[in-house]
Amino acid sequence: MPNSVTPTHCPYCALQCGMNLTPAPDGTVEVTERADFPVNRGALCGKGRTAPAVLSSRVRLTSPLVRSEGTLVPASWDEALDRIAEGLSRTRTEHGPDACGVFGGGGLTNEKAYTLGKFARVVLGTSQIDYNGRFCMSSAAAGGMKAFGLDRGLPFPLEDIPKTGCVILVGSNLAETMPPSLRFFNELKENGGTLIVIDPRRTKTAEHADLHLAPRPGTDLALALGMLHLVVAEGLTDEAYVSERTAGWEDARAAAMAHWPEYVERITGVSVPELREAVRMFCEPEAAMVLTARGPEQQSKGTDTVGAWINLCLATGRAGRPFSGYGCLTGQGNGQGGREHGQKADQLPGYRKLDDPAARRHVADVWGVDPDSLPGPGRSAYELLDALGTDIKSLLLMGSNPVVSAPHAAHIEERIKSLDFLAVCDVVLSETAALADVVLPVTQWAEETGTTTNLEGRVLLRKQAITPPDGIRSDLEVMHELADRLGVEKGFPTDPEEVFEELRRASAGGPADYSGITYRRLAEENGVFWPCPSADSDAGAVHPGTPRLFLDRFATADGRARFVPVSHRPIAEEPDDDYPVLLTTGRVVAQYQSGAQTRRVDELNAAAPGPFVELHPRLAERLGAAEGDPVAVVSRRGRAVAPARITLGIRPDTVFMPFHWHGEGRANTLTNPALDPTSRMPEFKACAVRLEAVKS
Ligand code: SF4
Repeated sequence: MPNSVTPTHCPYCALQCGMNLTPAPDGTVEVTERADFPVNRGALCGKGRTAPAVLSSRVRLTSPLVRSEGTLVPASWDEALDRIAEGLSRTRTEHGPDACGVFGGGGLTNEKAYTLGKFARVVLGTSQIDYNGRFCMSSAAAGGMKAFGLDRGLPFPLEDIPKTGCVILVGSNLAETMPPSLRFFNELKENGGTLIVIDPRRTKTAEHADLHLAPRPGTDLALALGMLHLVVAEGLTDEAYVSERTAGWEDARAAAMAHWPEYVERITGVSVPELREAVRMFCEPEAAMVLTARGPEQQSKGTDTVGAWINLCLATGRAGRPFSGYGCLTGQGNGQGGREHGQKADQLPGYRKLDDPAARRHVADVWGVDPDSLPGPGRSAYELLDALGTDIKSLLLMGSNPVVSAPHAAHIEERIKSLDFLAVCDVVLSETAALADVVLPVTQWAEETGTTTNLEGRVLLRKQAITPPDGIRSDLEVMHELADRLGVEKGFPTDPEEVFEELRRASAGGPADYSGITYRRLAEENGVFWPCPSADSDAGAVHPGTPRLFLDRFATADGRARFVPVSHRPIAEEPDDDYPVLLTTGRVVAQYQSGAQTRRVDELNAAAPGPFVELHPRLAERLGAAEGDPVAVVSRRGRAVAPARITLGIRPDTVFMPFHWHGEGRANTLTNPALDPTSRMPEFKACAVRLEAVKS
């Protein structure tokens, strides 16, 4: 138990709000205000405030479980670890290394994500590793890489937002997903700036907007192109900037000019005067930003949609300049760091590419292995889950709950059940853990030390504040023990700082260079922005980190940003006579992602006890449904039932469901796994459904 106040960070979203953990009189810990962290300055949402509830042994796993005669029963650590080693070893012997899959999570610390990637490639020798962060922001990552040569969610700190002139917020309901961040947008408005929110729903965030545009789900690519068309037509292009700092404008311009405002109005439902007003608001001030989130990104054309918004920024000179730029609001706690250090199917630590021979040599050298022994890129998250039980026979899963969070979830649940062997490391018995052959109870945020990287690219230290309950081990200890049992005795330390020291060396010289960051600096400096090379080569001084990217040059070979020519295309599954309505999904303020943790917190459950179907009164009337009536939502993949929530704040052609729950109200039973061709991001945000009244 703690005997002093420990400054730390929230375990949930990518804002990584600062908080203090303070001993409570009853021997537990409580969250108290920590005002020195600039991102939230002491403010927390209900999820962060109640996070200690999940530390309680009342709601969590405290013993390894193994399946015996169909039931999960308590077992010793040795028995559980032996079972996992045997399961993975047998699969590898009988079917080859690629029949072993590894699935990680965007909540894992950098140290765990790094070690998991190394474990998959060095111990198992499998290419089949990916993580649930693929479902979160991979389209923005792909768009950023294409345009800027680098993917860091925000290329500037959040504190720059109040200093810009206009922000276009595309597909983000941050007033519910990360409420303390709303402060930056309120300050923007107090300073005379404006906020444009683009969302099919009049969300709590949209209520703060000076202009709310509500396009049909899946049409914001056309919306961005229509705005770019107007920029060109009205002579608002920043020709000098385009010529000095970009390449590829002519093709992107030609693509945008094919998207007449009236054509865009027909596609999106956003009127031409609204489009013109948005262009005026965006182009009038000296500086402006576009921030995207899951709305534009979780589409089968998410990379192109992000590209269209980046093109708008580039054409108007609003990238790589003070208080201007494009950014992505990453969702998961360590969604940013998790994609930088090797648990993604195509990546090595430091955001190096697995198919780059020089990157393979560098990382193999740090790992003490032959570069040729490293497998190549593997399947993306959905494709990996879809291959379970066929090509992939055994799975090690850490910090993820795909039975709730994956698209086409009933299918994925069946694939998981068809595995020869499943091992899950988690804090609680999630819906996915409940299907496992072995479940290992592991430590969580306040019980362990580790680093995360927030949505700004700010690397943070979360220090251990309390002693974990008896019977629980860390993920690093699990990987150490498994590596040992599988014949790799060295290279898997259990001390997080030792892992971080190796990560620093592995990332050195890569795009996400952490080599100048140490635990000591993180403790003293309240976070350091990457890239942070080990030393300034001329002066030998400590590198200060890089809060603002691209001010002098973009991270491309010639320093210029790239326009990417993109055009509108429909979503993968347009409504038709059988499925005439669009479904879009998202989150509510009192729950987090698959709900594995937050559904175990009484206060949050009381605030958000279950799923619902949000629909317009016209749709409700056609259905004959009143507020609270059960409504069935049916897609080509399945059927979900939840109470109606009737509101004028949604388009009449669209329904919304939050995705935090399992059971008959599981939204992801319905969602479409159509993948973006570049990012492999599934199309969570738009699919065709029909509504049916449910007789009680
Ligand atoms: Fe935690 Fe995010 Fe809430 Fe902050 S906004 S308290 S990081 S869940």
